[in-house]
Amino acid sequence: MMYKSTRGYPEKYSFSDAVLTGIAPDGGLFVPVEFPEFNSQDMDRLSKMNYCQLASEIFSRFADDFTKEELETCVKNAYADGSFPEEPTPLSVLSNTLSILELWHGPTSAFKDMALQILPEFMSVAIKKSKKHNKIAILTATSGDTGKAALAGFKDAENVKIMVFYPAEGVSEMQKTQMITQEGENLSVIAVRGNFDDAQTGVKNIFGDKEFAQTLKERGYTLSSANSINIGRLLPQVVYYYYAYFALVRNGNLKLGDKINFAVPTGNFGNILACYYAAKTGLPVNKIVCATNDNNVVSDFLNTGVYNSKRPFILTISPAMDILISSNLERLLYDVSGENSEAVSGIQQDLKANGVYSVDKELSDAIGSYFWSSSSNQTECRKTIQSIHREFNYLVDPHTAVGIDVYDKYVISAGDTTPAVAVSTASPFKFNKTVAESIFGEDSIKDKNEFDILKELSDKTGWEIPVPLRDLDKKPILHKRICNVADMKNEVDNFLQ
Ligand SMILES: *Cc1c(COP(=O)(O)O)cnc(C)c1O
Repeated sequence: MMYKSTRGYPEKYSFSDAVLTGIAPDGGLFVPVEFPEFNSQDMDRLSKMNYCQLASEIFSRFADDFTKEELETCVKNAYADGSFPEEPTPLSVLSNTLSILELWHGPTSAFKDMALQILPEFMSVAIKKSKKHNKIAILTATSGDTGKAALAGFKDAENVKIMVFYPAEGVSEMQKTQMITQEGENLSVIAVRGNFDDAQTGVKNIFGDKEFAQTLKERGYTLSSANSINIGRLLPQVVYYYYAYFALVRNGNLKLGDKINFAVPTGNFGNILACYYAAKTGLPVNKIVCATNDNNVVSDFLNTGVYNSKRPFILTISPAMDILISSNLERLLYDVSGENSEAVSGIQQDLKANGVYSVDKELSDAIGSYFWSSSSNQTECRKTIQSIHREFNYLVDPHTAVGIDVYDKYVISAGDTTPAVAVSTASPFKFNKTVAESIFGEDSIKDKNEFDILKELSDKTGWEIPVPLRDLDKKPILHKRICNVADMKNEVDNFLQ
């Protein structure tokens, strides 16, 4: 199985090289040259597997330059080394027609762990196979969740170093504490004076510095990023859509071959694209419901065929979905257009030059046959958190609530009663302030810090605080460096001596 660029670059890449390279030389994203397909016999076999077996089996079709043993070791190190419970992605059945797939039982209590726990494993194996690379240095600017998940994933990975820059102003107390208490020999966490854009710009400048890249190359390092356009982050997300389906088959809500709907809270379009890939490889998906928050660019695009990022950026209570450019949409457009790399390149040029692009009716209709989309504003989101607690005694974080609310809108609009799974992307305790406020009112959080609210939310609901968030405020602080944007390159230079 080889990989190619969405923008027509002629060279094909092995899975190893695609993972290590991250983005194609023409700026395109790597996609499989051909998709594997699971037929009904395969489905029967897959339905009896546990999570790790299923993951190895699915990866073996996408990463055929890895041996079976290598894949099994990657999977085991990621999901069965104690950082996840025995069932990594439990399904909570709320009703006959709605279940919640909990993707937040990993080391940072958010769904990015599903991919970032295994990407470093893929990279460590890939480095040994690759003729192009020998040591990898991961650089990331983070607005919160990705940084911690990347640190937890890359911690002590062989032949890999990781550096995370976070804005000194602009991450929550809890997110900051998660990062600055991170243990590991191969990592560095540094605050940057400024906001997220400053940190992000600093990292982009380092990536664009050809001379510096050459200096690092001489020391054996290739710079790489752990962001969600890496194909090695996308494929792990395909697995849990299959897993959720089989879980419903096992508990009798579905028969093999029956259709299923998914609701996915969407930001950069990675998670939901994995759902589309699952459908493309044989999972019987009826509708994929794409849920956005007040930053509803993607929703508008799916409904009108016009992508217009020129609008105000709104800071919401579901910050991981506050995004105006959804990079992974490029892979969908490539696929739905019949792999038209010229059209995709044109679209990306329009987006870069004008912040806007549009697709024709044919393409827009084709997308509409797979997806349904709408948004949930902050008032609706809070109401959903409250009503899910009242009705089911179940806690959802604001991102998950956006997904559930939009799914409700879909059912009302389409009258579709196909059994559905809403994916839950973060632990409610990770966004405890909003959750407590939505359920118990504003007064319940007045004058309290996030750590107090954490305990109170647990006391009042009987839900246990996830281990990674427990006693976080008592852990020793290991990373105290702070720098200016102009010094970031120096910091990288020193770290990679
Ligand atoms: C990253 C993230 C999302 C958005 O996922 P995409 O793959 O970027 O669409 C949703 N919820 C949470 C909690 C996240 O961290």
